[in-house]
Amino acid sequence: MGTFAVHALCDGVGTFFEPLSSAFPGAGVTDLASAVEFDPVAFPSDGGWRLHFHAFLICPREGGAILVDAGIGDANAPAADWAPAPGRMPENLTSSGVAPSDVDTVLLTHLHSDHVGWSVVDGRPFFPNARYVVPRADHDAVEKLNPRVRDEILAPLAATGQLDLIEGKVRLGPGVTTVPTPGHTPGHTSAVLESGDDAVVFSGDVVLNALQLVAPQVAYSLDDDPEAARAARLALLDEARSRGAWLATSHLTDPFVRSRIL
Ligand SMILES: [Zn+2]
Ligand SMILES: [Zn+2]
Repeated sequence: MGTFAVHALCDGVGTFFEPLSSAFPGAGVTDLASAVEFDPVAFPSDGGWRLHFHAFLICPREGGAILVDAGIGDANAPAADWAPAPGRMPENLTSSGVAPSDVDTVLLTHLHSDHVGWSVVDGRPFFPNARYVVPRADHDAVEKLNPRVRDEILAPLAATGQLDLIEGKVRLGPGVTTVPTPGHTPGHTSAVLESGDDAVVFSGDVVLNALQLVAPQVAYSLDDDPEAARAARLALLDEARSRGAWLATSHLTDPFVRSRIL
């Protein structure tokens, strides 16, 4: 896109531990029919939810790389007890032509275990030269979110001085800015990449399933604050649509959705 390459890195594909009906209890029959049409693979006939786990790599032409989210992680990662571990981040980076040492910034949209897994491997930051940008409100809530993420991810990053806690809108690099989208977690943060008239909105878990594209008012049962999450979703989708942006989603089958069709 413009002067950037944007890669979707799929860390794995799996079935969620709750049926769709309890993950999105507010979805109506019509919403479900539209969502199935939009993303048929995500809705197997047994009522489960088949989801992908995407991270994204933004590569400016002039060099460097920004990683948005860090996937499931290896077989010992905090997400391994529910997500399809090990993930494929190392292979995906190689096929994108990027070494871990090339990544200068890692944005963790939030501190759920399936978004932070490759941040730290065997107690050491997997991206040795990166600053790890983490929403402060999630850092402050990590005890409640997942104590393993505190001990196994945040502590090693703090020890090497690579942890960078943020609030509000922050510039991550040329053309890339964070957008606070709290609700799914207290500090959930999305990002926007702009190049000329084009834009990509990295939504994180603001949108978890196609149900929330066809019916953005539908809440996710594990959102920390469903009302705030709904407001953030409506605002971010409005922004994406008004720019004709691509939406880069964490868990839909197709990592990139053109927002103008929504
Ligand atoms: Zn999440
Ligand atoms: Zn997620």
